[in-house]
Amino acid sequence: MARDFTLEKYRDLCCCLQDRGFTPVTLSGHLRQPDQEGSRRVILRHDVDLSPKMALRMAELERELGIQATYYFRYPFTFDPAAIRATIRLGHEVGYHYEVLTKTRGDLPQALRLFGEELAAFREVCPIVTVAAHGGSRSPQDNRDIWNHARFGDFNLLGEAYLSLPDFLYFSDTGRTWSPRGKVRDSIRNGRSPPAEIRTTTDLLHWIAVTREARLSLNVHPARWPSGLGGEAMALGQDFLNNLVKGTFRRVRALKGSPATPEEPDHRE
Ligand SMILES: [Zn+2]
Repeated sequence: MARDFTLEKYRDLCCCLQDRGFTPVTLSGHLRQPDQEGSRRVILRHDVDLSPKMALRMAELERELGIQATYYFRYPFTFDPAAIRATIRLGHEVGYHYEVLTKTRGDLPQALRLFGEELAAFREVCPIVTVAAHGGSRSPQDNRDIWNHARFGDFNLLGEAYLSLPDFLYFSDTGRTWSPRGKVRDSIRNGRSPPAEIRTTTDLLHWIAVTREARLSLNVHPARWPSGLGGEAMALGQDFLNNLVKGTFRRVRALKGSPATPEEPDHRE
């Protein structure tokens, strides 16, 4: 059996979903054509927090399996026009992974202006009709709060990955576990939580085999799913480095007594 949180294990997960009759759809595809009664749908969402290259590998695997997924790129951290175009050519949807309230430290008018500017930069490359908030559990701001003061239509958008799927059961690989425990911000507001005992991908496969749920949304961060042992060792090393950097930031902050800086690396949600 493939090791967990590898591209090989992700292939097992995709095949299991397809075997159980779940049709993978993009977020915009779902919003444009809500499903008929009785059909099963899964939205495979990928937040490209760290590595457009690893996202492309996942996009190629999905193409091979006949799957359409939705990839959210950050600006400017993973805004890679070549990778974005390649993702579109593989049949996927690309959206904007926004973090404007974090960047502006909660300044709402400035955040909405920045949202418009960054969205325009994406639209120079490809059409964008859906967005997804970047988590940043250490940031005091919840980026989704901009929608308390704006409508999707103001930006010609159809929806938001956290906010537009209230009837979907949401799973996230944050923290290399599927369990919702402790994922306060990385969850659908007012949505249902998946069973807490589902931790590993094997747990998830067993659950998918017996569930009667018809609407699933899976947030899979490509950088957590490297191919093979070499890649896995590298990704774990990257996690270690990220934690080291964060620890240093926290210590510096504690010394200065200052709040989080918008530049603080945060690649986890
Ligand atoms: Zn993110």
